Amino acid sequence: MIGLISATAAGAAARDRLAAAWPDRTRVYDGPVGDAVRRAFAECEQLVCFLATGAVVRLIAPLLGDKASDPGVVCVDEGGRFAVSLVGGHGGGANELAREAGELLGAEPVVTTATDAVGVPGLDTLGLPVEGAVAAVSRALLDGEPVALHNESDWPLPALPVASAGAYGIRVTDRLVELSEREVVLRPPTLAVGVGASKGAPAEEVLELIETSVREAGLSTRSIAELATVDAKAEEPGIVAAAGRLGVPLVTHSAEELAAVEVPNPSDAPLAAVGTPSVAEAAALVGGGELLVPKRKSAATPAMATCAVVRRPARGRLAVVGLGPGARDLLTPRARAELQRASVLVGLDQYVDQIRDLLRPGTRVLESGLGAEEERARTAVKEARKGQAVALIGSGDAGVYAMASPALAEASDDIDVIGVPGVTAALAAAAILGAPLGHDHVSISLSDLHTPWEVIERRVRAAAEADIVVTFYNPRSRGRDWQLPKALAILAEHREPTTPVGVVRNASRPDESGRLTTLAALDPATVDMMTVVTVGNTATRDIAGRMVTPRGYRWQTSEEGSK
Ligand code: SAH
Repeated sequence: MIGLISATAAGAAARDRLAAAWPDRTRVYDGPVGDAVRRAFAECEQLVCFLATGAVVRLIAPLLGDKASDPGVVCVDEGGRFAVSLVGGHGGGANELAREAGELLGAEPVVTTATDAVGVPGLDTLGLPVEGAVAAVSRALLDGEPVALHNESDWPLPALPVASAGAYGIRVTDRLVELSEREVVLRPPTLAVGVGASKGAPAEEVLELIETSVREAGLSTRSIAELATVDAKAEEPGIVAAAGRLGVPLVTHSAEELAAVEVPNPSDAPLAAVGTPSVAEAAALVGGGELLVPKRKSAATPAMATCAVVRRPARGRLAVVGLGPGARDLLTPRARAELQRASVLVGLDQYVDQIRDLLRPGTRVLESGLGAEEERARTAVKEARKGQAVALIGSGDAGVYAMASPALAEASDDIDVIGVPGVTAALAAAAILGAPLGHDHVSISLSDLHTPWEVIERRVRAAAEADIVVTFYNPRSRGRDWQLPKALAILAEHREPTTPVGVVRNASRPDESGRLTTLAALDPATVDMMTVVTVGNTATRDIAGRMVTPRGYRWQTSEEGSK
């Protein structure tokens, strides 16, 4: 929850704009400002104060504890010109909040945490728990002092400006280690803890067993990735509560699946009770890995819980990232985060140019020219299999006539694949044209380089007969000029010559153009490879210069239409 506090009428107006924009995320704190700030500080994860920074500093100073747990605080000035990330820039999310709130209010975000300023990822923003001398090591990274990386877990990290040796160090390990005053340790989620429990096993007993087992094996509980058990125990309160307290997911498997896992210590009791000779060991080992702690019982008498700990090997990471149609503000925040999460970027050179400024310094860029799709896909998968964090990019959505399919056709199940959707050319064009996709629609690529023309023609004909709105991708190039007229002719057999047709070139790019014409009037010479062509169905209309396909013929009366 974000607490909102204001003192003046101007502040209250800005506050209300945020509250209206984020009704589920915000809570307004009224009353005397000092009280309001104190209550919000205690109750919220974040605060936006429409007050001077000085006033806020005085109010929160006595409340500040630890940057890992304090709320992030943003101040917006009376004039609504600046959104200042005051405290909790990284851990409290204040930098991000300043950007978001700034965007909404038209205020300039003011971010002063050093790591953000020069594009070095904050050590506490890498998505892994971090311990040790965070401030000292961050400063060393910023100052360009050599910082050595010891990635014992081979965890796929983003690009970091590190050296092979140095006075400062970053260690990536699940082991308990002695740190010097110049070292941090990042905790990768490598440990799977299998848990078994009798009915009614207390949460304390389960938790204590897990924590001692992990610690006595010389491991950090902060590297626990998940608790795992058998389906029958999915709701066992002690296990559910232990997962909750550790802040990790509880994953369950069927008894058959667990019975098939080979374990060192099977026994008859669970076989009789839940149908598998092992719960803890099997559940921990089901995803593969090395058994570090064999089955162990809790200390209580009678012992009501068992656990086993497995270390899973790190997996490379392949993010398939859609960049959207071109404009920076149509690149999603998730896509941006994935670009910065990568240490290797693979893509077509012209798409790489589109986002090069967003990459972390040190990101290895593997770019290639048009036509090298298969090779790009292979390269991306190969790098991920080496254990790297790879981003494979494509324009629009990377799964639409783009890199996702060739890459996933190559990929084996030993890497993690993360898909990040993007705004496709068809959607970007539709938004420019009006609402042409209000009812059923398809995309058809007219490129017959990899697809025989007969197949394309059959699909165009099917769409024509089924009265479906069609968006043509790759509609026309210098060497391919007869396909578009042919496709339009097929549609014209089933649609009036006056059927609206939208032609959008370079959607969301600086030289964007969008035109509304008709099936009879479209001049194919105005269409090229930077264009998509959207042909309406028999219900599509030109209304006030906008292309509109009604949602349905009964939309005014049907229940569905009233949603
Ligand atoms: N993955 C992309 C499509 C790649 S195929 C997506 O999801 O949109 C390439 C074709 O997409 C181009 O020939 C053109 O028809 C279309 N296209 C891509 N970007 C476009 C844009 N900004 N404006 C209009 N058409 C575009």
